[in-house]
Amino acid sequence: MKEISILIPAYNEQESIPFLYTKLIEVTKSLPQYEWEFLFVNDGSKDDTLSLIEKLRQNDSRVNYVDLSRNFGKEVAMLAGFDYVSGDCMIILDADLQDPPTLIPEMIKYWEEGYIDVYAKRRSRSGESFLKKWTSNVYYKLLQKTTRIPIQIDTGDFRLIDRQGIEALKKLRESQRYTKGMYSWIGFKKKEILFDRDARIAGTTKWNYLKLIGLAIDGITSFTVIPLRVATLIGVIISMLSFCYMIFIVIKAMLYGDPVEGYPSLMAVILFVGGIQLLFLGIIGEYLGRIFNETKNRPTYFISSYNGSKC
Ligand code: UDP
Ligand code: MG
Repeated sequence: MKEISILIPAYNEQESIPFLYTKLIEVTKSLPQYEWEFLFVNDGSKDDTLSLIEKLRQNDSRVNYVDLSRNFGKEVAMLAGFDYVSGDCMIILDADLQDPPTLIPEMIKYWEEGYIDVYAKRRSRSGESFLKKWTSNVYYKLLQKTTRIPIQIDTGDFRLIDRQGIEALKKLRESQRYTKGMYSWIGFKKKEILFDRDARIAGTTKWNYLKLIGLAIDGITSFTVIPLRVATLIGVIISMLSFCYMIFIVIKAMLYGDPVEGYPSLMAVILFVGGIQLLFLGIIGEYLGRIFNETKNRPTYFISSYNGSKC
């Protein structure tokens, strides 16, 4: 019998977990030809998430859980999940039921046809602000244009991945993670299915704009050096323009003499170039920061327990 793992990263999801579990039971009942594992990764929740999961496990041995030593963020929580899932494939699911488990049978159908990565693409997004939709739209377009790997637009972590893909993902162990890009980076046969993303069933989103901007920067800096190239290019253009301007000024001074003037233009040029220099220092700094973090070579996460036993 093939085993299918459902991977659920959970951070302060005490309101959602009971709903989620009943939904999962419904789906798994309709697919009795498979064995199931429900792997929860408790990402340092401060509410009753962990004890709820423990209770589920007491009544249902298919429930497993990894308890992280603190909140590491969803990206790292998923990596912990990749390390611990036991199934022949896994389905990554948000705890808040924004990813409808009713899609699972269709995903499995394509998996049986031999696809390694069956990902769900959002047709619509309810419960999200106009600003969030717009920024994510612009961002994905930008990312798509600047990276060589095709990154799927409007696609999250809701997907089924075959064991072969799981093993590949486990090998990508950087600590500042952008998993969405990794699914594309590892390659393999992919299949897209469409769905309507619902609003959260309960609780509130754990993402704020600051975190999202952080994730966006991680996405760009971990998959492309284009910003550095743009910096070089603009540097070259400005140098060439200044060179022309210099020749112009020298010739003008020789022909017409050199009365002191030009304070406004001097100020404008200094401020403009200074601004650009600071911006590009910042960009270089982003990459430098990544190098710093990755060269420390720390373990990506620590776990307090697996199914209640220390390890
Ligand atoms: N999550 C997590 N660690 C975090 C933040 C979120 O494991 O630090 C989990 C969360 O419990 C949920 C999933 O990641 O299962 C998606 O989070 P959320 O619904 O807050 O994000 P959104 O759907 O708004 O993108
Ligand atoms: Mg959500």
